[in-house]
Amino acid sequence: MSRILIVEDEVAIADLEKDYLELSGFEVEIENDGRSGLERALNEEFDLFILDLMLPEVDGFEICHQIREKKNTPILMVSAKKDDIDKIRGLGLGADDYVTKPFSPSELVARVKAHLARYERLIGSNSPENDIIEIRGIRIDKTARRVWINGEEKQFTTKEFDLLTFLAENPNHVFTKDELFREIWDMESIGDIATVTVHIKKIREKIEMNTNKPQYIETIWGVGYRFKL
Ligand code: CA
Repeated sequence: MSRILIVEDEVAIADLEKDYLELSGFEVEIENDGRSGLERALNEEFDLFILDLMLPEVDGFEICHQIREKKNTPILMVSAKKDDIDKIRGLGLGADDYVTKPFSPSELVARVKAHLARYERLIGSNSPENDIIEIRGIRIDKTARRVWINGEEKQFTTKEFDLLTFLAENPNHVFTKDELFREIWDMESIGDIATVTVHIKKIREKIEMNTNKPQYIETIWGVGYRFKL
């Protein structure tokens, strides 16, 4: 969840911004004076800052300037005066966007989302997309270890998940029960190839419409199993 810091001395405005941003799923913190805002901005992890310009103790110009010396986190500056916005631009403090009061909260939310998305693309290498396998209605998120069958999430145990994922990653390949056991269970595991049979049965109960006529994991009699592509 993205975390946002609002530094704003007008409590009603800060609360309004917070309400709208929280409704959109953001975690929001508020500081009402410049000094504590600056301190938290520099010492805590946030994904975006919303800075009012005119603040007690330390103003938005100074906060913006100090954040930029240390961080690339997106900054939205808010001001009551259009002239101030021209001034911020002129100073080249490195703010990412400027909003004039009064603004519509939904516009603020839209801008916040746009800047977060842009920033996430920028630092994309640090937060790679999840590794997803999709085959005929089955969606396996390997990173989050979650599985959906035709859009409905199903719960799998660790070994069921590993076995399903292994088969789905190697479709049209027939594996013997021995091979699957060695692949999914380590050598010290208690159990034998019957464990594989039991797990396949449980997986089928979750993914197949009709377990007697499996559409995904086929039994190759006398050999083993194959994930049908
Ligand atoms: Ca103010």
